[in-house]
Amino acid sequence: MSNYMKKFIVMPGSKVRLKHFDPGYHGKHESHEKALPEIQKYVEKMEQLQYLMYAERKHSLLVVLQGLDAAGKDGVVRHILTGMNPAGCAAVGFKQPTPEELAHDFLWRVHPHVPTKGSIAIFNRSHYEDVLVVRVHQLVPEKVWSKRYDEINEFEKLIVTQNATTILKFFLHISKEEQLARFAQRLDDPARQWKISESDYKERDYWGDYTEAFEDVLNRTSTERAPWFVIPSNHKWFRDLAVSQIISRTMEEMGMQMPKPTVDLAKIRREYHQAEDESKSRPTK
Ligand code: AMP
Ligand code: MG
Repeated sequence: MSNYMKKFIVMPGSKVRLKHFDPGYHGKHESHEKALPEIQKYVEKMEQLQYLMYAERKHSLLVVLQGLDAAGKDGVVRHILTGMNPAGCAAVGFKQPTPEELAHDFLWRVHPHVPTKGSIAIFNRSHYEDVLVVRVHQLVPEKVWSKRYDEINEFEKLIVTQNATTILKFFLHISKEEQLARFAQRLDDPARQWKISESDYKERDYWGDYTEAFEDVLNRTSTERAPWFVIPSNHKWFRDLAVSQIISRTMEEMGMQMPKPTVDLAKIRREYHQAEDESKSRPTK
């Protein structure tokens, strides 16, 4: 386990309270500039390992990103995907369910997006919305959402055991003040104004309810096979550093191997390349 894995993991069975986690934590680095070489190192490692995963086609990785509005979910998606081969990597965003999705069980829309062997899927929001926004706004009765924690654990168990998937879940933790500051920046930035809606501000009235809902998620669904990490995210660069370290280390620990060639390379070299060389050295008429 890397140092940030140990530091931010929610131990299965523990009872965490978010007020004990400092969203402004930034470790030993003091600035983005100072942290950049380390972030780049992890991002490069992830790229190499993703190539290996794609070649090997035995393992897969599911990254789940949750957090309140402006916590940085989009930012993490962008940073993680930078150098990866799009053929082996997909980012999926989960929005308000469509009428068709609502007419099914809550996991129906999620299952088709879990990663295939050899690939990585990143969920920007996920099945956890069904015990977060849905619980806070009582979109279904308590007797329905309260069963979902166990249902989610069973679902994740299925993916892990049946398809050699590793699951990493990140809660991007920001303070209420930091959220407001980020909303203000969005208001002033023509490239980000489209992200702002009045409902984002209204949701701030439910901050306490969301905190409780997140605490239940962390306490009831952090399992050995699919752990949660609480990532201090007031500093965007620290968030990227912690997430990229945890992902790259997890991928290293998968013990992936470049597949052995299935053909006789020496024979191919002999038959095709030597023949080519001979034809090249033959004088042309
Ligand atoms: P955004 O991530 O800003 O594009 O917004 C997506 C919106 O969809 C958020 O307000 C989520 O709370 C909402 N959403 C995602 N999943 C669900 C769900 N299962 N039920 C209700 N709302 C959801
Ligand atoms: Mg939003």
